[in-house]
Amino acid sequence: MKLAIIGFGQAGGKVLDEFIAFDRQTKGSVVRGAIAVNTAKADLRGLEHVPEDRRVLVGQTRVKGHGVGADNELGAEIAEEDMGEIQSAIDDIPTHEVDAFLVVAGLGGGTGSGGAPVLAKHLKRIYSEPVYGLGILPGSDEGGIYTLNAARSFQTFVREADNLLVFDNDGWRHSGESLEGGYDSINREIVRRLNVLFSAGEVGDGDAVAESVVDASEIINTLGNGGVSSIGYAVDHVDRGDSGLLSRFSKKQLDDVDTTNRITSLVRKATLGRLTLPCEVQGAERALLVVAGPPEYLNRKGIERGRTWLEEQTGSMEVRGGDFPMPKESSVACVVLLSGVTNVPRVKQLQAVAVEAMDNIDDLREQSDANLDALLDTGDEKLPPLF
Ligand code: GDP
Repeated sequence: MKLAIIGFGQAGGKVLDEFIAFDRQTKGSVVRGAIAVNTAKADLRGLEHVPEDRRVLVGQTRVKGHGVGADNELGAEIAEEDMGEIQSAIDDIPTHEVDAFLVVAGLGGGTGSGGAPVLAKHLKRIYSEPVYGLGILPGSDEGGIYTLNAARSFQTFVREADNLLVFDNDGWRHSGESLEGGYDSINREIVRRLNVLFSAGEVGDGDAVAESVVDASEIINTLGNGGVSSIGYAVDHVDRGDSGLLSRFSKKQLDDVDTTNRITSLVRKATLGRLTLPCEVQGAERALLVVAGPPEYLNRKGIERGRTWLEEQTGSMEVRGGDFPMPKESSVACVVLLSGVTNVPRVKQLQAVAVEAMDNIDDLREQSDANLDALLDTGDEKLPPLF
């Protein structure tokens, strides 16, 4: 499936950068168009893989290239005002070759948090292709304003996009990692999952043909139009001998039971392990299972069993599944897309903290107006102002 990816803000740009790097490294073809949009010049300059002419600096008259300082209302206004510049960059993408748009942003900041929902709304109005969002939630230690931004952006982004894929930064940073180093490894985790998902249905290298193909329309149907998604992932290294490429085993020699069991256990691990957005699996509206790896390790029976198990877990009859042969890989990876999830305690928690932060900000604003008046008050002895 081919995507036009627009990275909005710093997190959006960095995830897009990683997408391009990953596509190049795996000789993939998921990224058909790429644009990074930002109000901060320095953030755009820091990107490594997004070509220079694919970087759009917006809001120059308002913030002079310095960013919006976590003000997402300003981020949204700037996106509205400068949509013409963003559209000019999109005009250079061969959109007839694209299956969907993906707008990526960190929801806790300002530029992407405010701009991404505005862009999603615009794209939906102009194009017939689906418009998906990838929204990154801030860690719970990031503080009230980031949580408030994220909760407001989340609501708006869900409303404007055909589906919002969510990644929760909370709990993904390993202890001892620096913030920057932590983000780099988190971004790789995000892209690995999305790349396996969206690669499905693309023609693999050589003549490796999928046993049960997942095509773009199955991904689109699983994502549906409206709602929130979470993604599970699990991977298992397989021993293909020293050469890697020339398998020691022919397909016939591999034990069918082993390959089937490997796939079913990977499906369980992916679903019950760490999801990009922690949520209750039961009640997901639809699901899609993609198993990627060397063709001799992919079998229809394993995928069928995994699919049936997912039907039981979700309680949904709309569970699709298929494989994606990657002859040069030495691991089998499984991605489970849970679409239309609604039982998400993390979002409720985010909203509760956001409401508290909003009340606190309002109270302090009122108080500080009164306190300033008191500070300047000289009592009965009036001091005249200079002018
Ligand atoms: P913006 O540039 O104003 O849109 O804001 P940022 O994108 O810098 O930050 C928004 C939020 O995104 C932060 O609160 C972090 O939670 C998160 N964030 C920032 N950079 C990254 C990144 O590279 N990867 C991930 N996963 N999250 C990030």
